[in-house]
Amino acid sequence: MKRLLCLLLCSILFVACGTTKETKKKDTAVVEKQKKKKEEAKKLEEQKKKEEEAKKLEEQKQIEEQKKLEEQKKLEEQKKLEEQKKAAEEAKRQEEVKRQQAPVAINNNVVAIDAGHQARGNSQLEPIGPGASTQKAKVAGGATGTATRIPEYQTTLNVSLKLRDVLQSRGYKVVMIRTTNDVNISNRERAEMANNAGAGAFIRLHCDGIGNSGVTGASVQEPANGNPYMSAGNVSASQSLGRTVLNHYCSTTGIRNRGMAARNDLSGINWCKTPVCLLEMGFISNGDEDRKLNNSDFQQKIAEGIANGIDAYFGR
Ligand SMILES: [Zn+2]
Repeated sequence: MKRLLCLLLCSILFVACGTTKETKKKDTAVVEKQKKKKEEAKKLEEQKKKEEEAKKLEEQKQIEEQKKLEEQKKLEEQKKLEEQKKAAEEAKRQEEVKRQQAPVAINNNVVAIDAGHQARGNSQLEPIGPGASTQKAKVAGGATGTATRIPEYQTTLNVSLKLRDVLQSRGYKVVMIRTTNDVNISNRERAEMANNAGAGAFIRLHCDGIGNSGVTGASVQEPANGNPYMSAGNVSASQSLGRTVLNHYCSTTGIRNRGMAARNDLSGINWCKTPVCLLEMGFISNGDEDRKLNNSDFQQKIAEGIANGIDAYFGR
């Protein structure tokens, strides 16, 4: 009986044990399944997130591209507007040049004389020629004689007055741009005065000055070929007038001939519609030449030399 009871107990225990093991196994499977499910859900969540981010990036990219396109369009429109503005300005400039270059009636019996500079320079600006965007001082102060201490504007006036007398005695009508030092006439205005006078020749008198006191000689500043402000005909006439006056001036006075200098940056030349000659009579930074240019007898010689050149230019 005892043995039977023991056997029964053992059987019960065995069965109980088996059942517990089974239950445990089942629980583990459920946990495993839940874990898997969770992981899948997480994966899905992450994928969704990634997709959303990609979408966002794509949208941002599109917005930026749109923005870029709009900016490009804006820039192109701006460029177009600027080009149109430039073209309009250029047309206006050309119109102005054309108007300024319209020839004036020239009288070969009229000579205009400009004594270079004036007592006080004028640093206000004016365009260097018809339609020019470059500007320069209206009129500079000029040099001063190194030996005589006489200012250039006085020397040029003294010679101009003598030249006037010589030319008048030879039958020319003379128009003086100035007869005193206390004036305020810009280089452009001087050219326009010669234009309005219809001068067959416009003589501008100057003295050179340079740091090196050893330099001497006379030269003429002429408009270069292709000067954008003057008519081709007037450029060529001015070159011819300048060369002729310089050669006669040098041969009459004995001053060294330094030749012609072509320049397109001189307002007093660029505004001219009449043949113009800017004569640098010599260097007042050189003691000897300064004394010569300020000597009354020598000035008479200078006036005659220039008048000889004008006569030769007109074929008289
Ligand atoms: Zn000068």
